[in-house]
Amino acid sequence: MPRFAPHPDVRPALVTGASSGIGRATAIALAGAGHPVALGARRVERCEAVAAEIRATGGTAVAVALDVTDTDSIAAFVDTAAAAHGDADVIVANAGDVQPGSVVGTDPERFAAEVSVNLLGVQALLHRAAPPMLTRGHGDIVIVSSEVARHPRPLTAAYVASKRGLEALAETLAMELEGTGVRAGIVRPGPASTEQGTDWSAADIDEIVATWSRWGLMRHSGALRPAEVAHAILTMVSVPRGTHLNLIEIQPQAPDAPKEQTP
Ligand code: NDP
Repeated sequence: MPRFAPHPDVRPALVTGASSGIGRATAIALAGAGHPVALGARRVERCEAVAAEIRATGGTAVAVALDVTDTDSIAAFVDTAAAAHGDADVIVANAGDVQPGSVVGTDPERFAAEVSVNLLGVQALLHRAAPPMLTRGHGDIVIVSSEVARHPRPLTAAYVASKRGLEALAETLAMELEGTGVRAGIVRPGPASTEQGTDWSAADIDEIVATWSRWGLMRHSGALRPAEVAHAILTMVSVPRGTHLNLIEIQPQAPDAPKEQTP
């Protein structure tokens, strides 16, 4: 397929998992900063609604069905985006899934399915989308990880394992890209208010909250808004050439402590 080359100042972006939460907010933030954006997820109708919202405010966006566990679907996503906007100069690997389950108790197929979304899907995406960046000697890759990569959370075993593996992949990638002109970095959010976890049963939530509390992992009730994480992602891809923001950990600020009562 002949390649459509945009003006060098135009930096087309791919965002996976753009149908909700952080991915949706990231697509909106990138479009607001002038990036033509391709939004991918399985619920393509949701991506289309976000793309329409972006276009209505003067941005450029296309929605494409994407399942990151399917290499044909990844190929169609990357190629459709390239035909619409030119080869990507920004890749945000954001799609993710987390389900309750322990190391011993999780059915191995279920475990593998989660690793497939959170880890293998990222490598497959980069394998397809990153080579034109290397040819051009320009581009930014953002890997959306999680604080669980640093502090494991019990009873979300496949998620923890895949996010820690993902950070290892991202660090290896950054080393391999050194000197190519392509930057890779990790955005590592703490708890955020998104659709993540909204499909868990009440019983699973009760057990998880009790276990996380026992391990001191529920320090306060603050949660990030998707737009706040999107801001960090936009910052990572926007820092001037000559600098490399290779890790941003973003946490919700703790709510203000109650003021001392004076008698
Ligand atoms: P959401 O559940 O709101 O969004 C997850 C996104 O991933 C959806 O758009 C979903 O789209 C997409 N997705 C899931 N499976 C696939 C798949 N097989 N193929 C393509 N897309 C897929 O959660 P968040 O916005 O919170 O999650 C975004 C990222 O942020 C994830 O990587 C998550 O691990 C990370 N994160 C989230 C935190 C939180 O507290 N919320 C904390 C730290 C990190 P669809 O179902 O339409 O395919």
